[in-house]
Amino acid sequence: MSDSERVRFEPELLEALNLAGGRWEKGGGAARDLLSPWTGQRIGRVFESTAADVDRAVQAAVAPGRAWGLLPLKERTQVMFRFREALMADLDRLAHSVAAESGKLPSEGRAGVMKGIEVLEFALSLQNLDDGAKVLVSSGVTCEVRREPLGVVAGVTPFNFPAMVPLWMIPIALTVGNAFVWKPSDKTPLTSLLIAEGLRKAGLPDGVFSVVQGGKEAVDALCDHPGIAALAFVGSTPVAKAVYTRATASGKRALCLGGAKNHIILMPDADPEIAASGILASFTGCAGQRCMASSVLLAVGNVDPILEDMAARAKAMVVGADMGALISKDSKARLDAAIAQAAGDGADVKVDGRTAQPGGELAGGNWLGPTILDRVQPGSPAACDELFGPVLSVVRVPSLDAALAIEAGSPYGNAASVFTRSGAVAEEVANRAHAGMIGVNIGVPVPREPFSFGGFQQSRFGSGDITGQDGVAFWSQQKKVTLKWAMPKDMNWMS
Ligand code: NAD
Repeated sequence: MSDSERVRFEPELLEALNLAGGRWEKGGGAARDLLSPWTGQRIGRVFESTAADVDRAVQAAVAPGRAWGLLPLKERTQVMFRFREALMADLDRLAHSVAAESGKLPSEGRAGVMKGIEVLEFALSLQNLDDGAKVLVSSGVTCEVRREPLGVVAGVTPFNFPAMVPLWMIPIALTVGNAFVWKPSDKTPLTSLLIAEGLRKAGLPDGVFSVVQGGKEAVDALCDHPGIAALAFVGSTPVAKAVYTRATASGKRALCLGGAKNHIILMPDADPEIAASGILASFTGCAGQRCMASSVLLAVGNVDPILEDMAARAKAMVVGADMGALISKDSKARLDAAIAQAAGDGADVKVDGRTAQPGGELAGGNWLGPTILDRVQPGSPAACDELFGPVLSVVRVPSLDAALAIEAGSPYGNAASVFTRSGAVAEEVANRAHAGMIGVNIGVPVPREPFSFGGFQQSRFGSGDITGQDGVAFWSQQKKVTLKWAMPKDMNWMS
């Protein structure tokens, strides 16, 4: 591993503070140590936020947010251009912060920040695209649409993308003129300090962007707060559902993205190299801790040569160098138990990552090597539950129809992919799969902007996607204005 790929830790203990009205302050709740997924060592501290902390941030956002929303879009965009410059200048530090607290490789941290910057670039383009519409609807009468911000809005984000997922929300919400209150994951709160620093360097007025740290208490307070107009959430399905229910009960607009169990259909005619490398990257990238990871391989017919090749590559991967760490010891214990249960249910543990263990300073980290479970039963937990680790469950099926029937039975609906050389098969999967994002010969089918990101079914509560034009629609409202400036002689039935 090159030096730039060796994860760096900030030398001092970092405190994840709240940002309200431009001032950093400790949340009023308990402090908790943050442990490195890489080493098990303490790398920082986070303070829980109370409802009073949330209220302070919201109150401090109201007036600056109103002034920010009244600026012309082009003026707000200038600040966001400088935000992009600040993020790019700080890319290496951001990548290492993400890696240090989430367990990702620094290269994965960098890729996540760059994907977030892609959303920011989409937001920057709005000044040229989003000019509303104006139509002469009758003699002397025009109708026009004006896009307006909602006011103070909030975002709640998961541990596994400490920079990218917030950057799905923050650039669009701010560019369209809102004040934004961010509740980062309580497991990965440190990168929020760097993102806030980027916005400060860009010249965003104090109060327009706030951070409240913590967990359920802070999230509940955001859901309930009458001063927050809209809330976006990304995390696990049970929490997404609860947050959606609570936020909408208090009259908010809400969009809550949940967990996933993504399927890859592997056809016998697939290109062996593209399939083996694509599937391996899908379930081992970010140590399998991403909502777009494929964790069920529906192996159609005889695909054994591809599976054997993939297993050999998986066995050769070195944890701590080729693949990062799991977020916590709890996660490691949960995954070890899930693998043991799958074996008990009759699966063949073809590649067993449970004993993977680097030495030296990484000995105290949370490690699980790539794991392949073959001949998993379709209805078993390994085939149905989101495990969120580098574990691939291979389910053998006789036909494409049988594969699509299993995919259709999943309550989730984030992503589905097919590896094939047949255009007809690819079309069939794209048409029939019950997922919001489909890949053909791509294991992680994340749409590139301006195509928006979002799943179906239990992977999303609320309507629309979180980025792209749907993101613009979510964070704004349209005012329809009908104007008549006609002289009296031009009056008609609308007079
Ligand atoms: P999580 O649901 O535990 O936490 C998400 C956020 O909710 C965090 O900010 C956390 O502090 C907060 N939270 C936790 N428990 C809460 C509760 N009881 N009430 C209110 N708030 C609570 O998720 P996680 O473990 O941080 O992230 C992993 C999950 O996120 C996986 O299920 C993954 O699939 C999902 N995810 C989904 C997407 C997507 O786009 N659909 C993207 C990334 C991650």
